[in-house]
Amino acid sequence: MPRITRAFKLKQLPVCIKRQTGLNCYQDGKPITGNNYVFEHLDDNPNNTVSTNIGISCQSCNIKKSSNYDMKLKALELKKHYEAMALDPDEGENLTHSASSEIDINRKCYGYTKQWLTEIINIDGKTELNDAVFSIVFDCQEKFGAGAESTIRKYINTLTLARGSNFMQIKDEDKKRWIVKRSGN
Ligand SMILES: [Zn+2]
Repeated sequence: MPRITRAFKLKQLPVCIKRQTGLNCYQDGKPITGNNYVFEHLDDNPNNTVSTNIGISCQSCNIKKSSNYDMKLKALELKKHYEAMALDPDEGENLTHSASSEIDINRKCYGYTKQWLTEIINIDGKTELNDAVFSIVFDCQEKFGAGAESTIRKYINTLTLARGSNFMQIKDEDKKRWIVKRSGN
């Protein structure tokens, strides 16, 4: 029975963020705060764990939905939409391909880098630096058609080395670099 595993969540999170254009609740549209979200089966079938059947919602909407017909309907419509999107390879492009200037794209990549780190560290507590770099480069290329490795490294350094940033880098015994939540100040 394919319930939602941690590995699935890690893969699905950037997909949901992209489809929902940010980390927010697909029901009420409000931004998610902290860990107050669930990966929800849109059709309420816990065994139907496929990407097009998963949306991110806040915990309170998730609970309300179990007894709310309109919310169930909304979820099913969204599922249909995701299925249609998955069949249309151009659709994803259209979502992001407005006439973006270079600054706009840089801003998006920076924003995505920050969001990615925030989410992964919420889930895992840490992430290896190189994993982070390559995952974010891949996602930014897919989403925005931009994001060179050197650029993403620069963004990660800004987000982890600057005083007052939320994250920091640590080295383990094998000299591997990890990104973790900044402790103290
Ligand atoms: Zn909600």
